[in-house]
Amino acid sequence: MILTSDEKQIILDSIRDIPDFPKPGIIFKDITTLLSNPKAYNTLMTHLETRYISYDLDYIAGIDARGFIFGAALADRLGIGFVPVRKKGKLPYTTVAEKYSLEYGFDEVEIHIDAFGENGGKKVLLIDDLIATGGTAKAAASLIDKVGATCVEVCFIMELEFLNGKKGIQAPVYSVLVID
Ligand code: AMP
Repeated sequence: MILTSDEKQIILDSIRDIPDFPKPGIIFKDITTLLSNPKAYNTLMTHLETRYISYDLDYIAGIDARGFIFGAALADRLGIGFVPVRKKGKLPYTTVAEKYSLEYGFDEVEIHIDAFGENGGKKVLLIDDLIATGGTAKAAASLIDKVGATCVEVCFIMELEFLNGKKGIQAPVYSVLVID
């Protein structure tokens, strides 16, 4: 279950830093180079499968859009369903929405009202590629609660620790790579 330092390094080395994207001062963590590297992607997915196999999860929920890539692959490995948490206006059926603040203005995420079936209390793991301020994940986790399921953990491939985004999230947080 614990990632060895060699495995951690393989994953870390596969992620590309793009300075000043999408705006000056931001170092964008580009996971396209992880996805195109079969050894790194497999190392990551095998680690996540090993960690979460014992959680007895009912669903994985992934955050638009990079959370879909890891979440859908993990759901298939665990033999459970995948639920997308999408940016506003993309989901076709009845939705529940949650706003969250950005540096300037706000954004909104949505989930289908029946995403986790008719019976409440389903155990859900929420996943995204990266946590920065934590606003997106906090809003996504509250959507899971709003539609009657339980967010048992929130998982990130990377955590930008210096932004302390974890503090606003009630559920336990697991980050594969913690970047200080
Ligand atoms: P936040 O709500 O501030 O935690 O931002 C998290 C969302 O923004 C995630 O969906 C990330 O994919 C994206 N994001 C924020 N900062 C970065 C970064 N430095 N590199 C890549 N993605 C980022």
